[in-house]
Amino acid sequence: MHPFTLAFVLALVAHLAVQIWLSQRQITHVLAHRGTIPAGFASAVSAAEHSKAADYAIARQRVGIVETVYDAIVVLALTVGGGIALLGAWVAGFMQPGILAGTLHLVVVFACMTLAGLPFTIYRTFVLEQRFGFNRTSPGTFVGDQLKAWALGLALGGAVAACVLWIMAEAGASWWIVGWAAWMAFSLLVTWAWPRLIAPLFNKFSPLEDQALRERIDALLARCDFHAKAVYVMDGSRRSAHGNAYFTGFGREKRIVFFDTLLTSLGPVQIESVLAHELAHFKLRHIPQRLVVGAAMSLAGFALLGWLSQQQWFFAGLGVPAPSDAAALLLFLLAVPAFTWIISPLLAAWSRRHEYEADAFAAQHADARSLAEALVTLYKDNATTLTPDPLYSAFHDSHPPPTARIERLRALVSPSAAAS
Ligand SMILES: [Zn+2]
Repeated sequence: MHPFTLAFVLALVAHLAVQIWLSQRQITHVLAHRGTIPAGFASAVSAAEHSKAADYAIARQRVGIVETVYDAIVVLALTVGGGIALLGAWVAGFMQPGILAGTLHLVVVFACMTLAGLPFTIYRTFVLEQRFGFNRTSPGTFVGDQLKAWALGLALGGAVAACVLWIMAEAGASWWIVGWAAWMAFSLLVTWAWPRLIAPLFNKFSPLEDQALRERIDALLARCDFHAKAVYVMDGSRRSAHGNAYFTGFGREKRIVFFDTLLTSLGPVQIESVLAHELAHFKLRHIPQRLVVGAAMSLAGFALLGWLSQQQWFFAGLGVPAPSDAAALLLFLLAVPAFTWIISPLLAAWSRRHEYEADAFAAQHADARSLAEALVTLYKDNATTLTPDPLYSAFHDSHPPPTARIERLRALVSPSAAAS
């Protein structure tokens, strides 16, 4: 066996083992606390809601374990199993080597991966989410969504693939710097186009009509010296009962988007506090920090790809006897995550720190008690478990565990407000 094949398979198996071990811990921990509502939540969450959240968390972990194993098998089949080489040879059978053939090779491999993942998407939507009462996607909407997503993936992914392959072929030894610059430009373009052209393909966005709420929001924005172009309500309820709120766009073009499901479950003061939290991510410069770190990581990725694409062992070790630019890209995208997962807990910890900071900001500019109430309502409505395994949560979660987060928020409620 090629030494790099062995290194790759070991890294992949190590990742798999860690994920399954953490999932098992999560299942055990949630199950052990299924009958006990954490102190501080007992008045807001009923025993039935608490055990439903536990069952939902456990059911999702069980599917997650099966999917993790399945995904690893797909990656192995495509790499060391020879799938990428096979599909490359198939394309070469009717097409001259070049940018177009390379693009088609990439498209065919991603189409196979999408099809391979489809049973899980269907299961999650129509079995898992359905069982817990969250699914509102009709089969028609689901098929329409899939077709639109595939067309979009084909157009955008195909364009990016062709562009990167062209740069690899034409820009010389330091092509990866040019490739990275093109990738950054593409990311900016998508950020601009997403709220305007892409999101409306999937959902309806209508201006917020509730005048009293709009005034409350405008007052908050003015208080925080923040500019947003418009406030929209999105018909999230067409697909799911889960609620959310987010900002999109950049500069003065920022838009605020509320899921209609969120507006029906929270009161005006609670909505204001949730918005103050989201706004904090801008005011505290979390968004630019994430962009800079993301740009630095993708530069490192392109540099690594530039080097790996010159190494014979990278191809030979991953089941591709005849190197090509398209195979280099595919192997990079499929094999490198087997090694880089090791940094994901650091990114999760960084994100949790930002969440605490944003909560503190919201407590200052809106109302800490309302934010705590809003979060408890959202935990309840989304059946988020209140008792995650500490290690699982530290490794995976971008948001702090509910009990720690609510405890901190309650400590931020000023003593005079608490007394009133
Ligand atoms: Zn946040």
